[in-house]
Amino acid sequence: MEFVFAPPPVTSLAVRGMAARFPVRRVYCVGRNYAAHAIEMGFDPDREPPFFFQKNPDNLVPGGGDVPYPPLTQDLHHEIELVAALGEGGRDIPRDRALDHVFGYAVGIDLTRRDLQGVCKKMGRPWEVGKAFEHSAPCSEIVPAAEIGHPDAGDIHLDVNGARRQEGDLNQLIWKLPEVIEHLSGLFTLAAGDLIFTGTPAGVGPVVAGDTLTGSVAGVGGIAVRIV
Ligand code: MN
Repeated sequence: MEFVFAPPPVTSLAVRGMAARFPVRRVYCVGRNYAAHAIEMGFDPDREPPFFFQKNPDNLVPGGGDVPYPPLTQDLHHEIELVAALGEGGRDIPRDRALDHVFGYAVGIDLTRRDLQGVCKKMGRPWEVGKAFEHSAPCSEIVPAAEIGHPDAGDIHLDVNGARRQEGDLNQLIWKLPEVIEHLSGLFTLAAGDLIFTGTPAGVGPVVAGDTLTGSVAGVGGIAVRIV
């Protein structure tokens, strides 16, 4: 096939124990999926239906590393998250079959221009300027579910310059991953290569240039990012 210019490269993540990489198709994110975080953001966590937003695949920072402080914000926040990576897709996937579609898991940071997101919320506007900007989605290598199973409990935390900022447990997810996949696949046709950032525990806060962020999810791995 001939293109009028070179097509953009496929964004991909390393897979632990494999030479082949995981090609990313879409990046979905779940909003307010830990009660303590919903409360700190000023919302009632009582199982409102899950809601979703997206980042762009080329917003990923594969493996972490340096992240330039983004433009037009004074309030860049960290959100540590368990990321599910789909190896199969479909529509209307029932929760009891949902985990069969998961290839593996990673540790991601949903970086957020909180001030710009706040304006979007107040004005009833979409969230992209707060969420889907360059380098907004650092993500670790993927660990295959074939190796570690499907983590549904265990520590998730993030430190900034060695001080604990966020801490939670995967068992605190309001909407569990099978339910997330069920809802999401009712809204969209999912496919292999889709990532799902599953939400962040309490303790989100601002970072500045020079900060080092280290996060981890028990049984999955860790990620380190330096804001430059
Ligand atoms: Mn998030």
